[in-house]
Amino acid sequence: MTATSPVDADRRFVFHPFSNAYRHEREGATAMVVRGRGTRLEDADGRQYLDAMAGLWCVNVGYGREEIADALHRQALELSYFHGFSSMATAPPALLAEQIIARAGGSMTKVFYGNSGSDANDTQLKIVASYNNRRGRPEKKKVISRDRGYHGVTIASASLTGLPAMHAEFDLPLPQIRHVSAPYRLWNAEPGEDDRAFSARLADELDAMIRAEGPETVAAFIAEPVQGAGGVIVPPEGYFEAIQRVLREHDVLLIADEVISGFGRLGHWFGSHRFGLEPDLITIAKGVTSAYVPLSGTIVSERVWKVLADGPEGVFQHGYTYSAHPLGAAAALANLRLVEEEGLIERAERQGETLRALLRDAFADHPLVGEVRGAGLMAAVEFVAERDPAVRFDPALQVAPRIVRASLDRGIITRALPAADTISFSPPFVVTDDELADMVAGTRAALDQVA
Ligand code: PLP
Repeated sequence: MTATSPVDADRRFVFHPFSNAYRHEREGATAMVVRGRGTRLEDADGRQYLDAMAGLWCVNVGYGREEIADALHRQALELSYFHGFSSMATAPPALLAEQIIARAGGSMTKVFYGNSGSDANDTQLKIVASYNNRRGRPEKKKVISRDRGYHGVTIASASLTGLPAMHAEFDLPLPQIRHVSAPYRLWNAEPGEDDRAFSARLADELDAMIRAEGPETVAAFIAEPVQGAGGVIVPPEGYFEAIQRVLREHDVLLIADEVISGFGRLGHWFGSHRFGLEPDLITIAKGVTSAYVPLSGTIVSERVWKVLADGPEGVFQHGYTYSAHPLGAAAALANLRLVEEEGLIERAERQGETLRALLRDAFADHPLVGEVRGAGLMAAVEFVAERDPAVRFDPALQVAPRIVRASLDRGIITRALPAADTISFSPPFVVTDDELADMVAGTRAALDQVA
């Protein structure tokens, strides 16, 4: 029997990511999203939504951009696909790589393309392994990540992710992965500890872990410039400076996971530029195409490339059918042109300041709000059971998921980050002042409704 409607087909035949299978099969989707323009979405019943999350932190230039649709149309007609596994290549990924390298700056020199942030982080681990094998250091393979880091969902990238809920079901993490504390002021800083002292303590923790493991066994450290899905955790002053001192001392590579922060969300082309990171490897996805089509990449520095390219023998035995997909690259080129021509990076910073000011005015004094935080156009409000001294909510009684549901009833899409009882905001860069005001007013009203 065929399904009676898209909602019915979805309920019966689609296995949704990050969903409760039991509930989805019984209740189905709450809405079929059918149209998007700018920051606004519409569902099949004609209901309107303001998307305060740009999908999943990714539709940076907004929905419905004709320039990207046109570029995809033209490229699909001209050359829909050819791969790069051989000596042949296609033009869009080549031109895109040139632009990415120019914007990444530092010593970045090559782009390896993938499809998602997760597979790009898997690629990072293979690059790191190959780098140390080729240097005659086969024992140097461990990778250190951070609690609350989000790096994806494949076996390797989920292992890097520092959210225990994503490990338990799948017997992860892999044995070569370690985690250190997040730079999470609200819960991890000692009373009275200032930013610099907190940063120094976290760097000491990393140093102690590397020494305990043996520096000769530790290959890389991976970090998002601002931790996104783990709670929008902004590094304290001096954090990356102190961390990088430790990494250099022990010959440990730095991988910057810029899947969210790359291409403008933190008010710079790369979040690394904002926080003074000098990575050896950078992961990109989401904002490179504003999610019009999937495309990701790992950007490789000269230091790493020199080793991989040393000697004619030894093929890098890795690549995806869709690595360097010409449609993805065509969308990315059109997307980056929009970002540049419309001054969207400066706009992201400006709108981020407006958003944080609105959030502080609306939320900061509420007795259940532990913190309003953010950087660039990423922001979060974290809820606490008691404020002073801070006490967490019972995980079963979290406030954020209830606010997100009540906000959705008001046509506002935010996201609960349950690891921190936090609601997050990461709207498209084109969001207007009025839309920001509506998002904040709607979520504040939702808080009054549920707590
Ligand atoms: N890295 C970061 C920082 C992310 O935020 C995400 C996704 O949210 C990923 C990696 C994984 O990307 P994807 O979902 O495209 O596999």
